[in-house]
Order: sequence, then C-alpha cells, then structure tokens
Amino acid sequence: MKTIGLIGGMSWESSAIYYELINKLVKERLGGFHSAKCIINSVDFAEIEYLQHKDDWNGLNKLMVKSAKQLENAGADLIILGTNTMHLCSPEIVKNTSIPFIHIAAATSKKVEASRLKKVALLGTKFTMEKDFYKNTLNDHGIEVMIPNESDRNIVHNIIYKELVLGKIENSSREELKRIIKDLQIQGSEGVILGCTEIPLLIKAGDVDIPVFDTTQIHAESAVEAALKDQ
Ligand code: GLU
Repeated sequence: MKTIGLIGGMSWESSAIYYELINKLVKERLGGFHSAKCIINSVDFAEIEYLQHKDDWNGLNKLMVKSAKQLENAGADLIILGTNTMHLCSPEIVKNTSIPFIHIAAATSKKVEASRLKKVALLGTKFTMEKDFYKNTLNDHGIEVMIPNESDRNIVHNIIYKELVLGKIENSSREELKRIIKDLQIQGSEGVILGCTEIPLLIKAGDVDIPVFDTTQIHAESAVEAALKDQ
C-alpha cells in the first residue's frame, strides 16, 4: 500500500472526514485490521484565509508548495490537497514535487463524466465558483458548469466561511443551499457538485432531487484507489 500525503487543515473539519473516509475505504478493500498509510500535514487555516481574502495567491502558492514538499520528504507516495479552493495552487505544487498529485476537480470530472450528465451546478467558495481553474477542468471533460447568481454566490461563500469552516452547522443554511440547488435545477442543472469539502457536512444525496457529487468522498476514493493500485 502506498502512503497517502494529505495537505489538511482547510478546514480541519473536512480533513477529519478525509481521514475517516480513507481509513474506511482501505478497510473495505483489504478487510481485517487494515487501515490507511497516511501522513497529514495540517496547516493553520487562519493564515490561509487571511491570504485568500487578500487575493495573495503568490503567498498561498509558497505555503502550499512548502506543505507538499514536507509531505514528500516525510515519505508520502502521493499527495492530495484537502480543499477545492486551494487547487488554485495545484500547478505550483505539481511543478515543485515529484510524486503524483491527485487533483480534486479531475477526479470529480471523471465521476460526472461516468454519470453521463452534461450540465452540472457547482457550489463552493467564490474563488471556486468565479475563477476559471475549476470550471476549466470540468469543461475539458465536456461538462457544462452552472454557478448561482451573484447574491446566491455570496450566500454560499458566507455559509462556508462564517459557519462550516468554524464547525457551525445551521439548519437554516441547509435550507438555503437546498433552495439554491433547486433554482439551478430549474435553470437546467442535471446534477450538483459540492465543490467545497465542508458542504457535505450540510447537504447529503437525499436532500435534493438531482444527483450530488460529493468532492470530499470522490477525492478520498481516488486517493485510496491510487494507494492500492497494485494490491
Ligand atoms: N474546504 C473548502 C474548499 O473545499 C474551503 C476552505 C478553503 O478555502 O480551503 O474549497
């Protein structure tokens, strides 16, 4: 089994889910006493959030490359970055490390492609919804992406930064997200990508009428598949 390196802490609430998922998935595959070989390099999210909202992606690139190199030096065989937003830094991580990097949007694109849906909604931080890096990966797989209108994008962004990454789970926010997904469905979305690793804390498959793509789950599955490739 290969050792999975997780850059975590963005937020730790979702890193905890990653840790649980990769261990459960390894146990499902190998049985018995098996668990995942994993190194977690968990950053201080306060530093990340500060630079994100200053739009200092140079500074963020440096922090992410440093974390990735630490994982490589510590013996990780592959890297996953446990946040959709911070994949804006993935080109720099890939350039500066020599172990495989499993991209969350690439893994999600494959899953959407396999479902044969052509048009899906994307929910995440404003960075993920508004910048091109995530949409481009989906478009490259022939998937059309819809995002909420500006006021709903602000609502989703605020639910993430004022509640979910602080560990707050509010029923009213769940209802808001359901309403936003319903609106996108009415406008033609055939499925919805939960493109923020904390959104699955609020929304589950049964909560809405269209297929849900949980990026935390999909990413963890891809990591385990890669870690067990030759098993
Ligand atoms: N975990 C979130 C994501 O998947 C947001 C926190 C962050 O900015 O990294 O985008």
